[in-house]
Amino acid sequence: MNAIHELSLTALAHALQTQQLSARQVAEHFLARARQHAASQAHLASDMAPSGTADPAHPSCGAFLSMDEGYTLAQADASDQRLQTGQARPLEGVPIAHKDIFVTQHFPTTAGSKILAGYRSPFDATVVGRLNEVGMVSLGKLNCDEFAMGSANENSAFGVVHNPWDHTRIAGGSSGGSAAAVAMGLTPAATGTDTGGSIRQPAAFCGITGIKPTYGRASRYGMIAYASSLDQAGPMARSAEDCATLLSAMCGPDVERDSTSLDLPPEDYCTHLNNDIQGLRIGVPKEFFAKGLADDVRDAVQAALATLVRMGAQLVEIELPKTELSIPVYYILAPAEASSNLSRFDGVKFGYRTKDYKDLDEMYQKTRSEGFGAEVQRRIMVGAYVLSHGYYDAYYVQAQKIRRMISEDFQRAFSQCDVIAGPVAPTVAWKLGEKSSDPLSNYLADIFTLPASLAGLPGMSVPCGFGEGHMPVGLQLIGNYLKESQLLNVAHRFQGVSEWHTQRPGSPA
Ligand code: GLN
Repeated sequence: MNAIHELSLTALAHALQTQQLSARQVAEHFLARARQHAASQAHLASDMAPSGTADPAHPSCGAFLSMDEGYTLAQADASDQRLQTGQARPLEGVPIAHKDIFVTQHFPTTAGSKILAGYRSPFDATVVGRLNEVGMVSLGKLNCDEFAMGSANENSAFGVVHNPWDHTRIAGGSSGGSAAAVAMGLTPAATGTDTGGSIRQPAAFCGITGIKPTYGRASRYGMIAYASSLDQAGPMARSAEDCATLLSAMCGPDVERDSTSLDLPPEDYCTHLNNDIQGLRIGVPKEFFAKGLADDVRDAVQAALATLVRMGAQLVEIELPKTELSIPVYYILAPAEASSNLSRFDGVKFGYRTKDYKDLDEMYQKTRSEGFGAEVQRRIMVGAYVLSHGYYDAYYVQAQKIRRMISEDFQRAFSQCDVIAGPVAPTVAWKLGEKSSDPLSNYLADIFTLPASLAGLPGMSVPCGFGEGHMPVGLQLIGNYLKESQLLNVAHRFQGVSEWHTQRPGSPA
């Protein structure tokens, strides 16, 4: 058998069910790797400091923000008990780690923010609960951009996440800890959230597979809110098959607790993985291949499209004319929602409170100025501005109208094709610090992931090659509403004839 961390989630589940491996053995293996990784980060931070690439205010702390070995091993022992007594659930004993934006009872939850440092939730997010119910063992919580705001994982209050393929580069964001941990084999899979690309883009930058389902398919209950009309949870793993297994467990109705949850029964996304893709019409938006797309990314994506054509698919040129507008639209609507969602962090009920203050107003002001990082404060200000009297019609209402047009453009496109394909991001992962002082350049890099988010469509990232500096490139697949199964089918068939998803970065040490 391969080393435990080399096994796919599916193979791991099988080895556990047939008792070739015990849940404790598996948990100990991953915990040891995570420990070793954490130790290596300390060296990384000090090695990198002299070159000026590491920000001293944001030292590297790696992928994990919290672990509790005692709790993880107790879960694993309980799984072993079930495995030995014929009560095993489908993913009994298979480890997973969660983006630190999902609240968890047994681990602290920070959302990557100082304002929530040390916070403990009295309950588990629905998605976490559903994965526990199928028998998964939690390894801990993973680093992310503060309140999921970012494209580089440089906005976490607890340090940057280095890209495992090149430690001088970003892992992507905001689910950078999730992507890096999976790429390094510190966990077989992780949860992520995607508001404007945060599952797809870090998955692409770290060479793993990730899917964001249709808005409403996975419950948002217990996912710390950034922009509620966009936030969605999804799995990040090595392959489409592993993502299909996890997504089947994660999705399903939760209408009592999440008013935007779709009241549809769960689906088994593994059923159609092997369907033939003969005759599949793949829409290629010309706006996704316009200037601004780096040649290395274009070449890898085009080679992937050529592979799909050899497998029987046909390419159809389509138009998504408002692609460029998705950036201003998103960066009006998401901050508007964030400014409202983040008003609850005021030092009163939970989280950080400033030490010295004269009165209530000063307490609010100092708590929020000290507790939130620069990017979060910027977005709260932008959000409050676009919602304010006199600007609401000019910005917020206009943005909502264009959002609707973006959805309509997709529906027009889907009358000509079955799935849409293109790049996930215009370039491979950039160097740490390269864009951190220029928020706009970070925002521009979201151009290809924002449209599907604004329309609430499912999207995924599939490794499709390597570009500059031998950095991974992701192929983005976008489906119509509730067509997750079709995306996973195309991705799985592609992974059946390509090996990009099997490539690994060097050892974590
Ligand atoms: N990069 C985008 C942002 O900063 C998307 C983040 C996300 O999907 N959570 O808002």
